[in-house]
Amino acid sequence: MIKQKKQQNLRIIPLGGLGEVGRNMMVFEYKWQILIIDMGLGFPGENMPGIDCIIPNVSYLEKKQKNILGAVLTHGHYDHIGAIPYLIPRIGNVKMYTSSLSKGIVLKRQEDFPNQPKLEIKTVEDKSKIQLGPFNIEFFRQNHNIPENFGLFIKTPVGNVIHTSDFKFDKTPVNDLPTDFERLEEIANQKILLLMSESTGAEEKGHSLSEKIILENLEEIFKKERGRIIAATFASLINRIQQLITLSEKYGRKVAIEGYSMRTNIEIAQNLKIIKVKEGTFVNSEDINKFPDSKITILCTGAQGEEGAIFMKIANREHKFVRIKEGDTIIFSSSIIPGNERTVQFLKDEFYRQGAKVFHYKIMDIHASGHGRQEELEEMIKIMKPKFFLPIYGQYSMLTTHAELAEKSGVKKENIVIAENGDIINLSSRKISVEKKKVPSNYIMVDGLGIGDVGEVVLRDRHLLSKDGIFVIIAVVDRQTGKVKGSPDIISRGFVYLRESKELLKETRKRIVGIVDRAAGSGGAVNWTYVKEELRNKIGKFLFLKTKRRPMVLPVIIEV
Ligand SMILES: [Zn+2]
Repeated sequence: MIKQKKQQNLRIIPLGGLGEVGRNMMVFEYKWQILIIDMGLGFPGENMPGIDCIIPNVSYLEKKQKNILGAVLTHGHYDHIGAIPYLIPRIGNVKMYTSSLSKGIVLKRQEDFPNQPKLEIKTVEDKSKIQLGPFNIEFFRQNHNIPENFGLFIKTPVGNVIHTSDFKFDKTPVNDLPTDFERLEEIANQKILLLMSESTGAEEKGHSLSEKIILENLEEIFKKERGRIIAATFASLINRIQQLITLSEKYGRKVAIEGYSMRTNIEIAQNLKIIKVKEGTFVNSEDINKFPDSKITILCTGAQGEEGAIFMKIANREHKFVRIKEGDTIIFSSSIIPGNERTVQFLKDEFYRQGAKVFHYKIMDIHASGHGRQEELEEMIKIMKPKFFLPIYGQYSMLTTHAELAEKSGVKKENIVIAENGDIINLSSRKISVEKKKVPSNYIMVDGLGIGDVGEVVLRDRHLLSKDGIFVIIAVVDRQTGKVKGSPDIISRGFVYLRESKELLKETRKRIVGIVDRAAGSGGAVNWTYVKEELRNKIGKFLFLKTKRRPMVLPVIIEV
């Protein structure tokens, strides 16, 4: 009975994106019918060595595959669609609904997973409406830094819900239509029960910069500089890429694209006529020297200092065709993701050292975030006038700050809920609350092709290895006597320089022999697990005593 009653409410379950930036995924459930919004991946933190990406835990959905009506994808950024190939094997080949650009990006990525079933993706446009079970979903255009980004107006049996997607308000965007405030008002007039709004920019005062300002500032550079322009940005910032291409065309520059992901995204966007490029604008990188420097722009990836990306290769003089020279102009057209400051600094220094001029967002406004700041977030709340408010997509501090903005903008304090991943939010026309029970929402780590097989233990080992290295003990033991034969071998990496630690090694060897002799005892069956455990503990302690380091100690015992 209780269960029955509960499902009279709309259940909203964030599986990722709340309390973090990225890995966005949300579940709507009404009378056991399920709608999914976004299936994004997250980028690994610095404390996750060797991890490629993290994805949402979908075990809640695994048992309910047949109840899933479909998934709507707000836009083509990887933190909203990137987990699809990892999740499909777990939740089934769910029908998806998204814009043609997002569809193109999803399908392109799917080529890397040839063994998966063909995806069923229906394209939708601004103002498209779809009915999935009890959910009526209307898509509405939202400005962001990738075209074809949709907010969702979802009519449910308990009331109307808005999901903003990532957004900013831009009255003068580039390569996109300005924010349609009239339409937002029109939607708001239908009475909004719950507003779920993204929180990435909640801690930034003021209003985000219009793309038009960025374009004007970039144009200043194109107008003045006579050398080659080498500009780096994110491959997914389709609109910024368009700006750089348009300016190149205006100032008679040919454009060479460097970087696989950027080239692919441009190709997809070009096929859909989302990016406009004049014939003859693009040239191959190997041909750039055939043109005067003032006629060349190179667009590339790696503005975050990513290892192996084009910018890093150029800085390290490892790029096949591009070497920095006096007179070159470098543009970093992106903000720095926290944690990447040092590598970006390295890039800047290196470019200056090699004689280039460097522009980045701290010198000039040549990058705008795709996320609205406080003024826009408040404006969204004031337009929608929701009864209930749920801040989504962002670190916990951003969610909290966003909740404060909502209160300031007229939502009653008791009607605002700050939830986290795995929470079950119950919504009725009169009430919003969070259940005590949670669904699993921990990180699932993807390491190469392995999914979820790297857990806490493996991660702890990687930490240990990266901090104090590894110390391998190889002891040959006589099965009959339980005594070590000869001198134990020691191999170590990342711990101490062995050649300069002869004394330490000598003493360690002596201790190994002693420990094995004692632990193995004399005669009878030997518990080798115990012997190894003793070695690990005692040698570990001894090495720490001597060096204040804790390498991973790995005993290997060979019985003869
Ligand atoms: Zn986005």
